[in-house]
Amino acid sequence: MNIAKVVVDVPASQTDRVYDYLIPENMIGVLQPGMRVVVPFGNRRIMGFVLEIGSSAEVDKLKEIQETMDLLPALTPELLDLGVWMGEQTLSFHITALQAMLPQAMKAKYQKLLIRTGEIAEALHPLFLEGDTAGYEQFEHSGVPLATLQQAIKAGQIELHYQVNSKETKKTIRMVDASKNVEELQKALESVNARAMKQRALLEHFIEEPGPIVQKHLLDMYETTASTLKPLLETGLLHSYDKEVLRDPYEDRQIERTRPLQLSDSQAKALEPILWSIQSESHEVFLLHGVTGSGKTEVYLQAIQQVLEKGQEAIVLVPEIALTPQTVNRFKGRFGSDVAVLHSALSAGEKYDEWRKIQRKQVKVAVGARSAIFAPFENLGIIIIDEEHETSYKQEDHPKYHARDIAVFRGEYHHAPVVLGSATPSLESFARAEKGVYHMLELPERVNQAAMPDYQIVDMRDELHAGNRSIFSRDLLEQMKERLHRKEQTVLFLNRRGYSTFVMCRDCGHTVECPHCDITLTYHRSSEQLKCHYCGYEEPIPSICPACESDTIRYFGTGTQKVEEALTQLLPEARVIRMDVDTTRRKGAHEKLLGAFGRGEADILLGTQMIAKGLDFEKVTLVGVLAADSMLHLPDFRAAEKTFQLLTQVSGRAGRHSLPGEVIIQTYSPEHYSVELAAAGDYRPFFQTEMQTRRAFQYPPYYYLALMTISHQHQMKAMQTTQTIVQLLQKHLSDQVRILGPTPSPLARIKDRYRFQCMVKYKNEPNLRDVIRRILHHYEDARKKEDLQIHVDLQPYSL
Ligand code: ADP
Ligand code: ZN
Ligand code: ZN
Repeated sequence: MNIAKVVVDVPASQTDRVYDYLIPENMIGVLQPGMRVVVPFGNRRIMGFVLEIGSSAEVDKLKEIQETMDLLPALTPELLDLGVWMGEQTLSFHITALQAMLPQAMKAKYQKLLIRTGEIAEALHPLFLEGDTAGYEQFEHSGVPLATLQQAIKAGQIELHYQVNSKETKKTIRMVDASKNVEELQKALESVNARAMKQRALLEHFIEEPGPIVQKHLLDMYETTASTLKPLLETGLLHSYDKEVLRDPYEDRQIERTRPLQLSDSQAKALEPILWSIQSESHEVFLLHGVTGSGKTEVYLQAIQQVLEKGQEAIVLVPEIALTPQTVNRFKGRFGSDVAVLHSALSAGEKYDEWRKIQRKQVKVAVGARSAIFAPFENLGIIIIDEEHETSYKQEDHPKYHARDIAVFRGEYHHAPVVLGSATPSLESFARAEKGVYHMLELPERVNQAAMPDYQIVDMRDELHAGNRSIFSRDLLEQMKERLHRKEQTVLFLNRRGYSTFVMCRDCGHTVECPHCDITLTYHRSSEQLKCHYCGYEEPIPSICPACESDTIRYFGTGTQKVEEALTQLLPEARVIRMDVDTTRRKGAHEKLLGAFGRGEADILLGTQMIAKGLDFEKVTLVGVLAADSMLHLPDFRAAEKTFQLLTQVSGRAGRHSLPGEVIIQTYSPEHYSVELAAAGDYRPFFQTEMQTRRAFQYPPYYYLALMTISHQHQMKAMQTTQTIVQLLQKHLSDQVRILGPTPSPLARIKDRYRFQCMVKYKNEPNLRDVIRRILHHYEDARKKEDLQIHVDLQPYSL
């Protein structure tokens, strides 16, 4: 067993295979699948993952592994399998799929450190002459066998640590310890100047308590400074060293412990089949469809509790923007230090530490955004995806995976249930639940008899006709005044995405759509044209509205700043907190602003998408949505679904407690079914209506999509290559498929590269991956030599 099969870090299809390397003598028995190694490749040294250990006949031809980067596998056998599957499913390189499962800190080669964390064997003592931390070179020069070091690491006595960057190495605390025995300290004490009171006090401390102590605590205790300590360290009576502590981003926070609540009847009914699946270890996918405030989280918490009692582990995914302190506290409040949180706002080092807590089995629950689905647990008992409809669960870079698919893979592997929760499920999931592929669970009411809020749709065209040109309708302004008066709070939501990219008539609300695709045409400033990004249809911008002949047709634009200014003018006494990318750029800003709002330090919270989810404030009794239809006109077949979801979510912020809530939706498309049905608060009619549209226009879940994006610095080259690819697809796929394109991408030029795309709509095309793979292979040379880029997305979310 002296051969390692290694996937190397050279993303290209000819290297997307496994290479054999000879295992050097000292690594035999140490190296395991899932470890990262450094290997020679051509004349370079590169990183790779060991997939398998075996033997080979052609040993003399092989190059040797140069270095092992891990002494514990970074990837479990399950995750190695998942890497193969994910690579195939998403048409990504194998190495890319494997790297996607690790925290940033482990994707590059960083300097290695050894950290002593416990009692170590005699043979290892020479490594740690200067304290608890040693460079890896010290080990390499020591002659200690690698297997000895590995044993100490496995036993938790030493840790192999990567220094992420020089500023953010590891977090340490300075310790002080007595280096002499008590008798010698006693003698030393007699010779210390009687007036050096503080020095004497420190020595006396160690005579009584010889063990190590945190330096800061020691100095605080004797009300002295490091200068008092210095001479004692210099004479060698005491010594000090740095001890690593894992960074805990939540260490400063006091979190109140909570106990399981008495479940409502419908909660109990929903929980039962989940518990049964956990207990019987039968994998099943549940769709927990519960209105906002129906107590889905409590169902998750009690299911997790059962999993922990069984000695198993849990993963909970929450969308990035909902990963607020409030959400984290609910899990930490119930499971305390058993919870690791993986959040993109953490620093690379913090993320790495949270990941290591999982790897070392110090925690049992991982709560996090999309990539937390790869938490390296080995005994998973449940996977929960909250707000399962969220598009952020789809990764837009390679590997373009959807966390939902990864959850199902892992659930099957561990015989564990997967719970998808939402008030507004994706059409895909709801359709599967209706068919019985998923197990449907429903929570139709809010807990504690809290009523669903009252909805009011305001037609902004009427406002205009009544002479109101303000951002706020008369009703919304009136209601905000009312809240100020009653000392209650208002949340104002402005969806900025997709702004000023479409043209709309201010008089009748008409927008211009593609005659073939049921998609709003996108405004191109450069050419003054309206274009369809699906089929390429285009037309000039109309100067009068084709529907009502008004000349008020124009493109749109309002930002949060403008709204804030308007508030200052109209409600000068209101205290406003604005939350958008500009005000939340600094670390912790998000938390600070929400904290202030929660304490009642402001009357109005004004924000973008980031305030749509997970907020639960008692005093919020009014939610205003300023431009409900801004999303409706995005060039996206999910526009109606996203609008419905967003309106339902935002509205769910109002009146969650004893005070009744009210929602005012301002729109130019009051008659659109996604606006009307969101106001009615009923998912099923929306589902039925939207499914008809999807069927008529051949979109998911009736059809699958594959999107290929081709980019090059010359427009002609990108266009012609796309044209050729369309022909190849037509030639090699069945005549059941529909191929659209070539057409410019929604972002037709990025960084001076022209982008074109083509889309395949299909129902059942077992050849598809193969055909695309062959096309990619065909262009391999051009991609390298002519800088042509081809991207494939087999599950496109935003087009
Ligand atoms: P969802 O996740 O479905 O929007 P939450 O889990 O946030 O709903 O629940 C809404 C509120 O109801 C929370 O404040 C929660 O603590 C409370 N709650 C949930 N279940 C119960 C219960 N069984 N008894 C009392 N309060 C509950
Ligand atoms: Zn009009
Ligand atoms: Zn079109």
